[in-house]
Amino acid sequence: MGSCVALIVAAGRGRRFGGEMPKQYLDLGGRPVLRHALATFAAHPGVDAVRAVIHPDDREAYDTAAADLPLLAPVAGGPSRQDSVRLGLESLAGEESSIACDRVLIHDGARPLVDAGTITRVILALDHAPGAIAALPLNDTLKRATPEGTIAATVERAGLWRAQTPQGFHFTEILAAHRAASGHELGHELTDDAAVAELAGLPVRLVAGNADNIKITTITDLHRAARRYDAPSEMRVGSGFDVHAFGPGDGVWLCGIRIPHDHSLMGHSDADVALHAVTDALLGAIGAGDIGRHFPPSDPRWKGASSDVFVRHAVHLVRALGAEIVSVDVTIVCERPRIAPHRLVLITHLSEMLGLAFDRVSIKATTTEGLGFTGRREGLAAQATVTIRIK
Ligand code: MG
Repeated sequence: MGSCVALIVAAGRGRRFGGEMPKQYLDLGGRPVLRHALATFAAHPGVDAVRAVIHPDDREAYDTAAADLPLLAPVAGGPSRQDSVRLGLESLAGEESSIACDRVLIHDGARPLVDAGTITRVILALDHAPGAIAALPLNDTLKRATPEGTIAATVERAGLWRAQTPQGFHFTEILAAHRAASGHELGHELTDDAAVAELAGLPVRLVAGNADNIKITTITDLHRAARRYDAPSEMRVGSGFDVHAFGPGDGVWLCGIRIPHDHSLMGHSDADVALHAVTDALLGAIGAGDIGRHFPPSDPRWKGASSDVFVRHAVHLVRALGAEIVSVDVTIVCERPRIAPHRLVLITHLSEMLGLAFDRVSIKATTTEGLGFTGRREGLAAQATVTIRIK
């Protein structure tokens, strides 16, 4: 199966708040509005790649908002939202695109509070339909007004939903629908991607959205969203475990430090089991899948890679979600090499890598009393527990 790509549409010029900066780059909880959605999609275990569609004039603001996140390069949008989405889709098609895009999630950059559960519901619904959108059933009674502001009629509410984003589609179908709509006489009246799909006759499913997933349109919306960041933070815990086998060599990498030994650890990268366990613990704490999803062993880029690349990637994802790492505890399981003589150096190196004080990083070692694969000195295991604080 091909990839699921998130297209975050942020090319609008909306400056309704009177300032010079488009609203998707204003501050929300200490980070630009756009960064929230970028980070949530980048960390989602069902999303393989994220691309933003931006206005060329906003490149500098975008680079700040996207700093250190694992994203595809942004592409320039067009004069209307629909043009921007079409240009984003075109950038994922054809031979110049490096990814085989199979499904696409289109999301408004001005909806920073989208949650991972909503994204998951849209992705899963695409197993059963070529399109699916997040939406909420209407609870309020609907009135149709006269031009003078008097009620002309009460509108039947049953079966009515409010459309949100993300809106997900099978890639080939929605690309064709957007191409067709761009030349269509009704094209300019289509206000979301589901409407483009409907025009093309594609069935689109409704899945439950989230009332918090508001679109920042007014300053009141921004204040409402910001209140969420006044809430007390919560603690989360992630765990990671990894094993590598011994093979010929003269040293092992642990926590980014090379320790002399009469064997080396075998693996696609530098086989640093401790850093692999820490990476998985960090990803686990934010529900971002595992190291193999972010760094497939099949990818030649990671052959012989230094594993601190993996850790730093996970740290960026954690921080991008507004979380901070509180502590890390690593246990290394082996008979040999002896870890104790290297402990202070390992802790120092890992604490620098994570930006943590020395006393927030723990490295312990144990043997298995001669039992099992570690006891037979066939390999080395490591487990890690990470705590984070998140808003
Ligand atoms: Mg590993």
